[in-house]
Amino acid sequence: MDAANEIKRLLTMRQVAEFYGFQVGRSGFIPCPFHRGDHQASLKIYDGDRGFHCFGCGAHGSVIDFAMKLFDLPFRQALIRLSSDFRLGITGSRIAKPDASRILEERRERQEQEEAEREAYYQMAAEYRRCLETVKFFGPDTYCQPYIHPLYAEAVKRLPYLEYWLDEHLGGDRN
Ligand SMILES: [Zn+2]
Repeated sequence: MDAANEIKRLLTMRQVAEFYGFQVGRSGFIPCPFHRGDHQASLKIYDGDRGFHCFGCGAHGSVIDFAMKLFDLPFRQALIRLSSDFRLGITGSRIAKPDASRILEERRERQEQEEAEREAYYQMAAEYRRCLETVKFFGPDTYCQPYIHPLYAEAVKRLPYLEYWLDEHLGGDRN
């Protein structure tokens, strides 16, 4: 992902506005720094990555546009400024891996953990299905009695644990 998109993804407009000293009002407005005498607070801060819009002067854009206008910086310099102020570890146009921010690393770890959990759930569910089939196929009702097939015995022993595990991990994302 390129630096500009990464910055927009990581920083909300509110975080940026507050960091640079603006008090965001209850309904999400701040006095517009881009036109004079805005006592009404006409600049609206939107949630997530939706940036800002001033109903007074029409100034509009993302967190990056905000930094460009506020500090009178070209695009690239605004990226660097935001990256360094928020310690995002983004240099140039790419994210420097060794400097990757704590936020990014935590996010990546969380994603990897979620993937591992989904994978574990899938594996256990598959084993559960296999055991059920084994029980059906090798069960004493269908197989020559009184001989008990070792696969059957094993599956019967394993099933309660699998049922318990799957129940505990229902959907793979429960706490
Ligand atoms: Zn304005």
